[in-house]
Amino acid sequence: MAGRIFSFVRFMFRPRNFILFGSFILLLAAPGGLAAAAPDPAGASPGLALAKPDRWSAPKSPQRILVVPLAFSRKKADGTVVSIADQNLQSLDEIRQRYAIDLVDYFRQISPGKIEIEVTVTGWVMLPKSVDEYRMNFRIYHPDRLKTWLNQVALVRDGANAIDGAYDVSAYDALMMVPGCSSLEFGGSGYVFRHAKGFPVLWTRSGKRLPPVDVHAQTTPFPSLPHSLAHIMGGYRDGRVVVPDLFSFEARSTPGPYSYANQYVGGDRAMQYISPHAGPWDIMSQHGIKIHPWTSLFQGIAVQGMTSFTRLRLGLVQQSQICTVERGDTKEVLLNPLTRHDVKTSVIYLPLDNARYYLIENRQVEGIDKHLPTDGVLILKVDESVPDGHGPVRLIDAHPQAHFFSQAPFKVGEQYQNGEEKISVKVIGKEGADYRLEIRRGM
Ligand SMILES: [Zn+2]
Repeated sequence: MAGRIFSFVRFMFRPRNFILFGSFILLLAAPGGLAAAAPDPAGASPGLALAKPDRWSAPKSPQRILVVPLAFSRKKADGTVVSIADQNLQSLDEIRQRYAIDLVDYFRQISPGKIEIEVTVTGWVMLPKSVDEYRMNFRIYHPDRLKTWLNQVALVRDGANAIDGAYDVSAYDALMMVPGCSSLEFGGSGYVFRHAKGFPVLWTRSGKRLPPVDVHAQTTPFPSLPHSLAHIMGGYRDGRVVVPDLFSFEARSTPGPYSYANQYVGGDRAMQYISPHAGPWDIMSQHGIKIHPWTSLFQGIAVQGMTSFTRLRLGLVQQSQICTVERGDTKEVLLNPLTRHDVKTSVIYLPLDNARYYLIENRQVEGIDKHLPTDGVLILKVDESVPDGHGPVRLIDAHPQAHFFSQAPFKVGEQYQNGEEKISVKVIGKEGADYRLEIRRGM
């Protein structure tokens, strides 16, 4: 024990570790804990009259990504280490398919011409320790989160050091690490290496600074990868994540229907259960949609697109495509599908105050959204003072009798009314894939 304390003290007094630990203290001090920022009672930035949708810009393009497959040190009964060739690892072709083809394709579909990704995949490299020593916890709030955090730091540092020299990690915009194990063995599918205020800063042994890091086990369903990369591309601004999690940190931390035993393939709740604010309508909420979930025949997890909220945060909507309806206005608007890019109107924006506004969008079962449960007009209420993972975006559910927001959009003839805010949104017709809306706002 004394030796351990001594080596911890020595660890602390290396300047880089001191900086790292400083950021760790910072995040422990945040009342929300490791992953959630404290609620900000002041709301959006002071002095900002309205939470305008033109504050966000697209990430730099191309994004250079280094994918690092990581084998664990596994021992045979006689104490010798199992070689990489003898471990149960994905082929590099499978990894290239997921990261260099499917992931690139996702961002091409969501942002034609705006976000290109250049992916380099290293060979498998071996970590110095066993999978148990890097184990994570799939919950966000739990008693041993200090240990989970230190395990994350160790994995990211050891993984970067394993390729140090062969690759200059500082030349990339993100590292995506692929632990060669199942999520059951790892304790969960993975994580973006981040805390409430930003991406921790680490250096390799040779002094190269790590970019933001994603870690997802080789068996992770694909939608977690674009979900994570969206966090990384958006980055942080003023100590807050630009592309927040829209699922519930509380629900994910609650023992019950959500566990890695049924996370994707088991009971009918699973991912839906952790997404009580925006359901399946954004990859930052329930990330992934089970294909044919109404049959017992599981056919995989498909991606979905993003709501206008996340698209705005990634700078993917042109300002001319946003139709603003101010207090006192009445407007008839032809709203084009959100999945189509060369259109006149993608989003309707109804400002309320310096942190709150409504967004209205037309979701069609097509393209990146082709596995959504239905189509229609989706109404989102945004409160920017609500932190990451606590519901900054909440859907107005047009049909709450259907579970898990599966029928959340409004259809022709239906109307949303909020007497207190003096807002009425009426779907008056459908023309091809476009919806005609009448929006009335009182003073
Ligand atoms: Zn996330």
